[in-house]
Amino acid sequence: MIKLNRPPEPQVLIDNGSVWRDSLAAAIARYGSYKLIPEEEKRRLLVGYHHDEVKIALTKSSNGKCAFCECIPSEGGYVQVEHFSPKSLYPQRAFEWENLLPACAQCNSLKSNHDTEIEPIVNPYEQIPSQYFEYDLLSIKPIVGQNFEIAQRTIEVCGLDSLRVWKPRSEILVELIGFRNSLQIGLAKYYSADTERKKAARIRSLKDAILTIETLIAASSKYSAFCENFLSKCMEYKEVKKIISTEI
Ligand SMILES: [Zn+2]
Repeated sequence: MIKLNRPPEPQVLIDNGSVWRDSLAAAIARYGSYKLIPEEEKRRLLVGYHHDEVKIALTKSSNGKCAFCECIPSEGGYVQVEHFSPKSLYPQRAFEWENLLPACAQCNSLKSNHDTEIEPIVNPYEQIPSQYFEYDLLSIKPIVGQNFEIAQRTIEVCGLDSLRVWKPRSEILVELIGFRNSLQIGLAKYYSADTERKKAARIRSLKDAILTIETLIAASSKYSAFCENFLSKCMEYKEVKKIISTEI
């Protein structure tokens, strides 16, 4: 999970949000509760919150990734518009821009009706996820300290420490270990360079390697927080970055 910035509210919500909210409230009053509204009517009343304009704005803000697990839903489905405070419990917030997030089908369905207002979880538009989570091999872990409880609950509610994310993380881990090994080789060559020409050539190779590695931590890359965490603990990466920075 990485920090996301919420873009301005889409015009379609500005223009229609309150009308849609009032129609939903009227239906709740008519049927006695949100749950009792017939499914077909509920679908019709709610259609606006996942209007294309909303979906596009959210998808763009998360670089096409799920706000929670950082997978790219378009690879195996599509981005869904998720209600941070569930619409079944807080129907008055069903069309509220600040309550909408882009999520994959798995995170959306696992989170389901979890009451975030009573038992909060991390909202990547509001909090800085790197202050809540760290990684241990393929697993995501809550950072010990004041954010531990909310981080642990987020992992449980969204199922962020499970096979569905271990598998793709394991493929990236293989790639990261390959990069680390190539940096080790590059560093050995750099330290053994016996002429200025060789040294300059080896620095160029190290720079190229870093550029490639850093594509994995770009906000647009899937599981970028996982990669960032790996590199933050990678001694070779730190060493090469130091060499490069003193060369500039
Ligand atoms: Zn997800």
